[in-house]
Amino acid sequence: MSEFPQTVGAGRYAPSPSGDLHLGNLRTALLAWLFARSSGRSFLMRIEDLDRARDAGSAEPQLNDLRAIGLDWDGDPVLQSDRREDHEQAIATLQARGLVYECTCTRKDILAAPSAPHSPPGAYPGTCRDRTEEERAEARDRIAPRLPALRLRVPEATAAPTFVDQILGQTQGEIDDFVLKRGDGTIAYNLAVVVDDAAMGVDQVVRGDDLASSTPRQILLQRLLELPSPPDIKYAHVPLVLGPSGARLAKRDGAVTLRDLKAAGVKPDLVRAKLAQTLGLARPGETPTMAQLLERFDPPSLPREPHTWSEDLIASGT
Ligand code: GLU
Repeated sequence: MSEFPQTVGAGRYAPSPSGDLHLGNLRTALLAWLFARSSGRSFLMRIEDLDRARDAGSAEPQLNDLRAIGLDWDGDPVLQSDRREDHEQAIATLQARGLVYECTCTRKDILAAPSAPHSPPGAYPGTCRDRTEEERAEARDRIAPRLPALRLRVPEATAAPTFVDQILGQTQGEIDDFVLKRGDGTIAYNLAVVVDDAAMGVDQVVRGDDLASSTPRQILLQRLLELPSPPDIKYAHVPLVLGPSGARLAKRDGAVTLRDLKAAGVKPDLVRAKLAQTLGLARPGETPTMAQLLERFDPPSLPREPHTWSEDLIASGT
């Protein structure tokens, strides 16, 4: 099904172009590169630009920053917005099997609805799942000109998929009837990721561990669409970088992008060295090359805990 070159396997990095990458994003990208290159895979880049409202078209500066710290990738970056046809096709495949239904609920409706017994907190309560044709038409009329979203009808008796993550170990998560396409026509993240990873021949997914809870949904989609799934697809959800408050690093946490650091006179090589230091791959004062990092890279010895970023780390070394 692929227009992309197939290789021995591929890893990837998939940034959303919502502004400059910060040190946490750069660290995850560095890890994705190391996982892919150290296992003989190709390394691909995909720009996840489906959320038009948030994406400011800033892919180019992100790619420049990735290059500046030493990453390279194979072929041109894939733009997720160019892949609409395949996304629609996947939804049509699920639809033909009765696995998709229209949902007219707003966020508020979902919060107000009583939750189904045994369902995880925040799960979709199933309000629109079993509507008759007539009820569906009425519901559509009621929300016009807004359009319904499309949700996956998770087949009854679907066991929550489990997978063995290279960092987190055995991992499991509950699945509800999640959104495939939003009411505004935007293809949902889980659907696009699964379809695009398969089309690009990606068999190794390395990303922040904030996305680990999405993975069971993605594995279910892989199975329903008859695409490769674990153990053929490997997952590594890597610990995040935290800001001084203990929350996930954010741009308000000071000089945390290459742009900020450059303005403060810090060169990208030093940033790479400091990121490597947080991963146990470099000693203080040392500036290893990408080839040296690759030689030293050993997934089982990676830190398992989030790293709390401290500006002192940059200030301390030249
Ligand atoms: N685009 C997502 C992000 O920037 C990553 C998605 C993925 O790696 O699956 O957080």
